[in-house]
This record gives sequence, C-alpha cells and structure tokens, in this order.
Amino acid sequence: MTHSDDKCIFCLIVKETIPSLKVYETEHSLAFLDINPVSDGHTLVIPKYHAVTITDLPDEYLADIGPVVKKIAIATGATAYNVLQNNGKLAFQHVDHVHFHVIPKTNDKDGLV
Ligand code: 5GP
Ligand code: ZN
Repeated sequence: MTHSDDKCIFCLIVKETIPSLKVYETEHSLAFLDINPVSDGHTLVIPKYHAVTITDLPDEYLADIGPVVKKIAIATGATAYNVLQNNGKLAFQHVDHVHFHVIPKTNDKDGLV
C-alpha cells in the first residue's frame, strides 16, 4: 500500500491487521462487507491509499474504483441500489478514508447510511 495511516481502521483492513469479509479486490481497490449493514449485501468499496475525501485521492485510484463499484452493484443481483459516498463530518462521514457504499434495495425496509 503506497500511502497508509496506521491509525486508520480502513488502512488496517487493507493490511489485514483488522479482519474483514472481502468481496473483491484489484491492485488499487478493495470491496468488503459493511460491519453494520443497512441492507443485505451492503458493501464498502475503498481505495488502497489513505485519503480522507475524494478530492485528496489521486486520479489513478479514483479511476480504478468506479468499475469496482459497478461490479459489486451487479454482483448483488439487486435491480435497485444506492451508491453513497460521504465527504466530511457535515456530510455524515464517520470513517476518514474514502469509501463508497453500495446498498442493495430489495424491500422498502432497507435503509440508508
Ligand atoms: P460513513 O458513515 O463514514 O459514510 O460510513 C462508514 C461505514 O463504515 C459505516 O457504514 C460502518 O458500519 C462501517 N464500518 C466502520 N468500521 C468498520 C469496520 O471495522 N469494519 C467494517 N467492515 N465496516 C466498518
Ligand atoms: Zn486509511
């Protein structure tokens, strides 16, 4: 991992210091199940590079993550889903490492982050 922060929970997941349920990965991106899912299959897609917001993320990593988000959305099998990405505390970002939520919607009880 080229740019990492040992105090960041998602960097520790990339390094496998903290376990996660991995779904898919590329050289630059990792997809794993959210620990507190708001619907079945709620998945997080992150860059293997520590950046707090997408404006801090090098384009190379941003370019890699889009196709991974698409692949995960297809893999869930859901025809309805939300892709959410929060930047900054005011925008409800709680983990300070860029992440895209892929949230399948199969019934009207499925929530949002
Ligand atoms: P945010 O609110 O920052 O957009 O989303 C952070 C997400 O990370 C939340 O949905 C939360 O459940 C998830 N999360 C926080 N810590 C962990 C963890 O240690 N493992 C996993 N798999 N997900 C986590
Ligand atoms: Zn990080």
